[in-house]
Amino acid sequence: MSRTAIVTGGTRGIGAAIARALKDAGYKVAANYAGNDDAARIFNEETGIPVYKWSVADYDACAAGIAQVEADLGPVSVLVNNAGITRDAMFHKMTREQWNEVIGTNLSGVFNMTHPLWTGMRDRKFGRIITISSINGQKGQMGQANYSAAKAGDIGFTKALAQEGARAGITVNAICPGYIATDMVMAVPEKVRESIIAQIPVGRLGEAEEIARCVLFLASDDAGFITGSTLTANGGQYLA
Ligand code: NDP
Repeated sequence: MSRTAIVTGGTRGIGAAIARALKDAGYKVAANYAGNDDAARIFNEETGIPVYKWSVADYDACAAGIAQVEADLGPVSVLVNNAGITRDAMFHKMTREQWNEVIGTNLSGVFNMTHPLWTGMRDRKFGRIITISSINGQKGQMGQANYSAAKAGDIGFTKALAQEGARAGITVNAICPGYIATDMVMAVPEKVRESIIAQIPVGRLGEAEEIARCVLFLASDDAGFITGSTLTANGGQYLA
């Protein structure tokens, strides 16, 4: 049986690697994205994975988007909450917009995607909710009060929902990547990037495919006893 998976933010970076890995493992995959049509088109041409445009920050758009995916690919068994943004600023300069945008996408977006899928997963007695949190949600990061709060919130959400889903065959887990070589990290100035790498015991950035392999495992039947967990993949940078 081929299960259906949605990967939010699945057309670039870590999400694209996750979508490819799930497809290669035999899942029917839908890759969601927010606005970068060119990247989505190229991704779709390269992989054949269908792409769906909506913002995870918009509950109604999520519900409609999920309904479309289910009409096209069948009931969704695996949700990978990967979409995320940064709006970094030291707190004394942080605007309400920067706060609200990051909370809206990185935390409320996880609610907005999980909630419309939850009843169907409960009814079918199977589900996998996997949320990409961050090392900076575990340890906090200066200049990222908004991002750290949202990503820590994702971990709390995961732990609470795992308890609600357990009897219904739904596992709920979080992955906390360290610094991964994607657009998000390559956009920081080279000097800053070098100082980041100097703090990583394995001496390099992570690869998106390394996070994708964590997702594949948590989505699999082999991981049925793992729920409410936080899988840390950060090259030893922070030992949570
Ligand atoms: P990228 O910036 O490379 O890609 C982000 C993806 O998310 C894009 O596909 C983007 O769509 C999508 N997206 C952004 N906002 C929305 C939205 N409102 N609705 C739907 N999709 C949206 O990010 P990364 O691959 O680096 O990061 C992926 C996740 O991993 C994020 O949650 C991030 O916080 C987390 N993470 C990343 C780390 C890293 O080192 N890179 C470290 C730890 C965690 P579009 O292409 O249309 O813009």
